[in-house]
Amino acid sequence: MTKAMLIDITKCLGCNACTQACKAANNVPEGMFRTKIEEYEVGTFPTVSLNFVKSACKHCLKPACASACTVGALQKTADGPVVYDSQKCIGCRYCMYACPFGVPKFEWHNQLALISKCDFCVNRVDGGEGPACAQACPFGAITYGERDDLLAEAHTRIQARPDHYVNHVYGEREGGGLSILYLSSEPFENPLGFPQLGDTSPAYANEEVMHATPTVAVGMALALSGIYWTVKRRNEVKNRLAPVTVEPNKEA
Ligand code: SF4
Ligand code: SF4
Ligand code: SF4
Repeated sequence: MTKAMLIDITKCLGCNACTQACKAANNVPEGMFRTKIEEYEVGTFPTVSLNFVKSACKHCLKPACASACTVGALQKTADGPVVYDSQKCIGCRYCMYACPFGVPKFEWHNQLALISKCDFCVNRVDGGEGPACAQACPFGAITYGERDDLLAEAHTRIQARPDHYVNHVYGEREGGGLSILYLSSEPFENPLGFPQLGDTSPAYANEEVMHATPTVAVGMALALSGIYWTVKRRNEVKNRLAPVTVEPNKEA
């Protein structure tokens, strides 16, 4: 069974309780986020509506990021979360280009260029709690549970209110299926800016390329590892050199 989230865009009021709860639960540094609320204005005056879309990693069933990573720094776990291991990451940024949702963001101010992304609160979930963002939402816009149950719930909501929702659960099939599912009253691609994806994950294409060019892939990984360790070593040496303060000669 795969854990998932159902985000009902029609219930979100853009309060950001989820983004702040995420930062607090995961010690996310100031100025950085694992999830954000994107705002889309729909219609023209006087019939304008605002739509708030909670965006973060979609924990794809077949993640393109993981298939593009040559060193296994991104892995899909059995329960659904796609997790990141900074100890393995060599900063090559392949995942950034592979992800159809533009999720992996590099910490450019960090010389070792590590990524920051939602991990589905994997430690909280392993400890029996739900994801912090889902628990914090005061309007019931985020539901956490088994993917099959949430898909059934989404279709029940659409059938109960066909005038309220578009007849589409985004993430049911897109990109081979996502663990973050969305309901909306507006079409997803336009005006809400969701990428239009087929039913197949881009991961399959990545795997074909990697399998077809193992020497290139391994060579790139080794070259980038070399750059990584050179930069790391240089920083270690630099940090060990204590600053020297020259006092003026008082006897002169
Ligand atoms: S949304 Fe992007 S980063 Fe998240 S699992 Fe899918 S491909 Fe990977
Ligand atoms: S699941 Fe956890 S890490 Fe992901 S957005 Fe929600 S609170 Fe943040
Ligand atoms: S806490 Fe709920 S209502 Fe508030 S921004 Fe997040 S998803 Fe929307």
